Amino acid sequence: MTAAEKKSIAGFLDTTSDFLSSGYKTGQNDYDFTDDALTTASQEVSLSRDSTSCKTDSIEQIADEIRRCKNCPLGMTRKNAAPGEGSLQPLVMVIGEGPGAEEDAQGRPFVGRAGQLLDKMLEAINLSRNSNCFIANVVKCRPPNNRDPYPEETSACAYFLERQIALLKPRFILAAGRIAAQTLLKTTEPIGKLRGNFRELTAGNMTLPFLATYHPAALLRNEDLKRPAWEDLKLLRSMLDKEKTG
Ligand code: URA
Repeated sequence: MTAAEKKSIAGFLDTTSDFLSSGYKTGQNDYDFTDDALTTASQEVSLSRDSTSCKTDSIEQIADEIRRCKNCPLGMTRKNAAPGEGSLQPLVMVIGEGPGAEEDAQGRPFVGRAGQLLDKMLEAINLSRNSNCFIANVVKCRPPNNRDPYPEETSACAYFLERQIALLKPRFILAAGRIAAQTLLKTTEPIGKLRGNFRELTAGNMTLPFLATYHPAALLRNEDLKRPAWEDLKLLRSMLDKEKTG
């Protein structure tokens, strides 16, 4: 077992014990594990989980697995998982943080107040989950009290997101908010630095143009973020237009 795998299991145990004792805490213990030699069996597991090698995958199959998933403690506290929805040939895949209360109740991503604003933002640049976008999150189950997902929860869920990206092959990825941007880019840089220009995202064997912007919930809290978010959306629209004519 590798150090990362041990750390992940320890994280699950921590969050499970938090949940069983007094609800969730935000702190993390920092365990220091060393790697054991990789066994053939664990190599096989990781190979069979390679998102690019699964020939019979489908979005509905992934959604079914997500709805049954108990790979992290969020699977025990959710009402409904919100696997994702939208076009199956999306121009843009929008990736947010994780379901909130309304999403948890409905089993659909971005359907609360922030989601309604997201729909309006997308509509302003001729995008919609009904025609040319797929909407998903880095975690598919609601973190209790809308806390940030723990790293072991985003890692447990990455397997689903990677498969969704590999299947949908979106032309562009739009990350909504800090957690999505940091998780996808594997960085801790602040969202103010990550937004505002296109980057490349390596996902499986694809490299996709990637743009981050502020989360619509942040725009609801802070009017001052609306202008830079609008600049980001205009930048995305201009890239989409360039691709159309290029
Ligand atoms: N916030 C998110 O990041 N995702 C949702 O689905 C809803 C709110």
